Formats: sequence, structure tokens, C-alpha cells
Amino acid sequence: MRSAFAYPLFTLTTGPVDVYPAVSRALSMPVWYDYDPAFQACFERVSLKAAQALQSSTPPLILQGEPVLALEAAAASLIGAEDSVLNLVSGVYGAGFSDWARRYTSQVDELRVAFNQAIDPVAVDVWLSRHPQVTIVTVCHHDTPSGTLNPLDDIGRVVKKHGKLLLVDAVSSFAGVAVTAASCQADLFITGPNKCLGCPPGLSLVAVSDAAWLKMEANASAPRASVLSLLDWREAWSAEKPFPYTPSVAEINALEAALDGYLREGPEQVWARHALTARVFRAGVRALGLSLWAADESIASPTATAVRVPEGVNEEQWRLRARAAYGVMFSAGRGETLGKVLRVGHMGPTAQPMFAIIALAALAGALNQLRQPQLDIGAGIAAAMVVMG
Ligand SMILES: *Cc1c(COP(=O)(O)O)cnc(C)c1O
Repeated sequence: MRSAFAYPLFTLTTGPVDVYPAVSRALSMPVWYDYDPAFQACFERVSLKAAQALQSSTPPLILQGEPVLALEAAAASLIGAEDSVLNLVSGVYGAGFSDWARRYTSQVDELRVAFNQAIDPVAVDVWLSRHPQVTIVTVCHHDTPSGTLNPLDDIGRVVKKHGKLLLVDAVSSFAGVAVTAASCQADLFITGPNKCLGCPPGLSLVAVSDAAWLKMEANASAPRASVLSLLDWREAWSAEKPFPYTPSVAEINALEAALDGYLREGPEQVWARHALTARVFRAGVRALGLSLWAADESIASPTATAVRVPEGVNEEQWRLRARAAYGVMFSAGRGETLGKVLRVGHMGPTAQPMFAIIALAALAGALNQLRQPQLDIGAGIAAAMVVMG
């Protein structure tokens, strides 16, 4: 089936996501010279706005690549051969962090749950009591390919009780869920503007605690003069200090527009519309007779929903049928969840209940085009609209 839509009408994905109109406008500004004093002032201003949004005591680093850069740079900069890492794994991104960590130390253990479940903070407590040699705990907050959320603030409390460093991947939860670097007590809190902040991919944000700076300074193998160096960027936020290399100037403008929108609307309001959109969507999913990938709805992320692919349905055909027939783009699973889930993002500008209705119509309509028995689309939408109020 050929697509009637050269461009999607609705990009309801889990990242990259559709961007806010103000972000699009910011991307069309003239491109600055990086040492134009006006850009240096802009970079400092954006860094301070990011600190406010992240609740970080010092300006977060803005790295010039999408968040995989920050995750790899964090592993390289923080972890030394003497470190013992406990990686909490509840999904594909969590599992992937072990590979980076193992490049820098041979001592990496995993506390793993099935990829439709969440980490239990009590299990972390028990593990750390039995393994006092652990120096660093790492965790992915929202493991996006599963659409599940770990109880991060509780995990943070346990990790701090044991006096360990905490590294957090909050790429697809920050700005969509009530989480900040402060709330979870992260030492390295890694996120990016290309999920819930509604920006294009191209930058990462890293909030760094004083303890993490001390650790990285003491790490003789931490990279310098490298794109993987966090230390190189430590002072770059200040208009008085040089950049280690050229920042992605156009993306900085986009980030400023996104942060302005986020802070103006108010984080609580933004989180509330992410949560409501997800609830509306899931009510519809249930009423259609489809099921969630998450073992329990209480651990399903407010920023994305992974819908289990029904028996006998080809996920790719389903997803691409929605794109071709209705102009609606969804996300596939990834790694272990590839082919098993179809994912719908509720991120940034698409975290609006009305987009949940569009998603339900498109995914149920596409499925009905592919197979019998027919889903009752009206029942799904009616149930969703009850939650919408
Ligand atoms: C999107 C995302 C990243 C960034 O990685 P890509 O695979 O390049 O998109 C990292 N961690 C999580 C949890 C993400 O959702």
C-alpha cells in the first residue's frame, strides 16, 4: 500500500517527536557565530534556564549531540577501573548501559527484572547491603522501549542511604513526569530536549553534583580534549569562558524556546497534561480490547504507551498501515520489545488528550484494515473521552 501522505499529519512517536511551534520558529533564526558576544550571553542564559528546569544547583552541561553522547560521555568520565558498578536493568536502554560501563571497569553487575516490570527499591537496598564494594549505581528512569517507569526517587533514597553515586538516564521522562536531578538525588542526571521538551534531536543535558565533579576530577582515565569529556564542558556555560568546541548554535535557540515554554506553562501543568493524555489513551486501549506491555498500569509511563501487538499481527504492517492510511506515525519497539509492541508517544506538544483520541482511531482503524475480528472503534473512543472529561 503506497502512502497517500508524503508528510505525516500526526507524529505520535516516542522520540524524535513533533516540536512546539515556538521551537520551529527558533530554529529559523539566523545562525550565530559562536563567539558573537550575543551568542555567548545566550548560551549562559539557556544554561541557567536549564538549571532551573532540572533543579540543578549548578548549570547543567549542554552537550552537542543527542543523549546517547551524554550517556557514553558520562560512563567514560565517571567510571574508572577501580569502580564497581551496579546497573539496574528493566529494559533495553538500561541493559545497554552495561556495555558502556564495561568499557571502563570489569566490575559491572546487573540487577535485572523482566522488561515489562519495574525495579524494586527494596531489592536495591538488599543488594547494596550485601555488596558494599559498589561505588556507582546506574538506572534508566523510563525505559522507553517498554514504556515502563522505575520508582526513581525511592531508588535515589536507597542509593544515597548507602552513600553511592547515582547515574540516571531520564532522557524520556524529564519534562513529562515529576522528576528532576534534585528529586532523585542523582549525581549525573542525563536528559535531552528531543523527547518531552519537544525539540529536535541534537543536544543533551547533564546535571552534575559536586560529588560527581570530584569523582570525575579524580578519575585519571576520564577523557579530556574529547567529545566524550564532561570535564571539558564544566565552565562553558559562562559567557566569560571558551567553548571546548563549536556548540550547535541553532539547537541552542530551539532549546531556549522549549525551556521558556516549559517554565512559562509551569512544570506541574506540563506533567499533568502528559499524565492525562496517557490515562485517556489507556482507557481507550482497554475498551478496544487491546492490552498494555507493562505488567501493571501503575508502572506505565505517562510519556509513552507500549501497546502489546495482538497474536498473529505483524507490528510493522500495523504501524505502517496507520501511517499510510491515516498519516499517523507511531514508534516500533526496540531490542527485546521489537515486533512485540507498538508505541505511542505522549511527549511535548503531543501530550494533549485530543492526540490520544487520534492515536486510538488510527491504531484501531489500521488493525481493522488488516484483520478480523473488527475492533469496536467507537467503544474505544467513547471510553477515552469519558476520562478526558
Ligand atoms: C531516546 C532515548 C535515549 C537517546 O537515545 P536514542 O536511542 O539515540 O534515541 C536514551 N535513553 C532513553 C531512555 C531514551 O528514551
